[in-house]
Amino acid sequence: MTEEIIRRTTSLCPECLQPIAAEVYVDPETNWVMMRKQCKDHGEFKDKLSVDAEEYKWQQHYTDEVNSTINISTKPEYTSTGIKKIKNGCPYDCGICENHKSAPCICLIDVTNRCNLACPICFANASAKGYVVEPSFEDIVKIMEHFRSMKPQPAALLQFAGGEPSLREDLPDIIRKGKELGFVETMISTNGIRMAKSLDLCREYAEAGLDAVYLQFDATNHPEVWKKVRGVNLWPIKQKVVENCRTVNKEGKGHLTVMLVPVMARGVNDHLVGEIMDYAKENNDIVGGIVFQPVSLCGRINYEELMELRYTTSDLKIDINKATNNSITNFYPLALTAKLTKLLAWFDHVHAWAAVSHHDCGFATIVVVNDKGEYEPIENYFDVEGFIRWSNKVWDMVCNKETPKPTSLLKGVNLEDYGSVAATIGKFIDDMSDLGYRQMMKAYYFAGAVKYVKPAALASKTFRSFSRLVFAPNLASAGNFFTTKNMLISAMHFQDAYNFDLERVSRCLVHYGVVDPDDPNKVMEIPFCAMNTVHRERIEKALAIPGEKTESPGEISKKAEVLIQSIEK
Ligand code: SF4
Ligand code: SF4
Repeated sequence: MTEEIIRRTTSLCPECLQPIAAEVYVDPETNWVMMRKQCKDHGEFKDKLSVDAEEYKWQQHYTDEVNSTINISTKPEYTSTGIKKIKNGCPYDCGICENHKSAPCICLIDVTNRCNLACPICFANASAKGYVVEPSFEDIVKIMEHFRSMKPQPAALLQFAGGEPSLREDLPDIIRKGKELGFVETMISTNGIRMAKSLDLCREYAEAGLDAVYLQFDATNHPEVWKKVRGVNLWPIKQKVVENCRTVNKEGKGHLTVMLVPVMARGVNDHLVGEIMDYAKENNDIVGGIVFQPVSLCGRINYEELMELRYTTSDLKIDINKATNNSITNFYPLALTAKLTKLLAWFDHVHAWAAVSHHDCGFATIVVVNDKGEYEPIENYFDVEGFIRWSNKVWDMVCNKETPKPTSLLKGVNLEDYGSVAATIGKFIDDMSDLGYRQMMKAYYFAGAVKYVKPAALASKTFRSFSRLVFAPNLASAGNFFTTKNMLISAMHFQDAYNFDLERVSRCLVHYGVVDPDDPNKVMEIPFCAMNTVHRERIEKALAIPGEKTESPGEISKKAEVLIQSIEK
């Protein structure tokens, strides 16, 4: 059998981190998709990208095929602290540099590198380094302003990470400021210890405007897994955070959504995919979904170890389907909803934004929990592809200021089948010449969208949330869609030096913001995978607070044990 080359790109040498040419190909022996690269000084390296070559090839062109990524650009053109000229080549021009192709959907700020855990699998790994990096409130505001100043697309989502962001006492002020600056959604990425300890803290965050809690969630009730991954058993803590967030919402203090974030490692927790999904299902009044993160590998490892440890999104897809009786038909690349998001934001009168990342970076889909509590493919309820094609078409019309001719859309559709509100839509459409263009497009959008609902959906809770989405098409109803009987199942496979791909990182949409160590008046914007593979150490050493030291991993773990026991009681 001959080898098939799928694409050529540039990667990094895992030894010297210099850019080197790479090929992505199908290995004829295994039918796996592999990356191969050769460094003139350090030899050949190979890594596995997917165990399902057909699916990998499908995801390379699917978003273009359905028109989600045709004629859509989010390339940054302006920021208040400038865009850098190309000098050293990617990934050494971060950033943001003029080669970068995607706007950051997510502005990510490490508000402290201190942590109350010393996890063996941490990106930031603060306690092992010893130095403290903690931007001032003013620096954080400068970073947020930079991201909101971006044109044509300001960052829409704001995530606080670390270290453990809840260790900052001024976090509520920071959240409030983020909201004031116009971020659509604010999120905290947390181990949950402080939020489990204090219901008041959860209330404070919610009242300040926190929207989502990205909760590390590597396992369910398996103390041995927790100890391996995080050093201590965090299962009681996770349940408590979910309970506290639920209480806050019931009190009317906020609208928190919890997203479960499991870091997946082969042989450690890959057997727990089903249990994590079941937990999300049982708590889906508050849990909006799961963001799986296959672990990135660091340190030097040989090919055999790499093959042993590497857990790709394709492995995850197999495990999800095993756990859900094959309830996911398609794992859609993240950019599938690019135009839909822009359209909903436009309906909502907020700055249009879109998530346009490389297709290898991750996937997102919805699994429906039916009225019997079983998982079912979303495609049983909706023609997803038809709905996306329709949304893409309407967004293209909005961009071209086209005026629709709606009457033909309703032919053959009995609106009364879709409930009492829908029955009035015909008149609404007849009258629409009197309405503003945006209202007219909303009506037109609905009229076209109902065709993609399948009969099975009409009596279900899934349809009720879907109809809210198309009757009142906006970001809030899209959010509501996930906290009903639908679960967002998504993944992002952060890169490491073994599978690094400049095609991917130059389209990254998760950008760290840090104060530029060479010019404190400026903000550096660094794509996530470039930060963690290449830049973190240099930048953090330069920004470390002189004289301040973090506690040692041993001290942190001892204190964490005591704290966790006090919460359990
Ligand atoms: S990752 Fe983006 S910002 Fe960084 S050097 Fe590459 S293209 Fe430029
Ligand atoms: S963070 Fe990494 S995996 Fe995610 S979009 Fe950016 S480059 Fe892709």
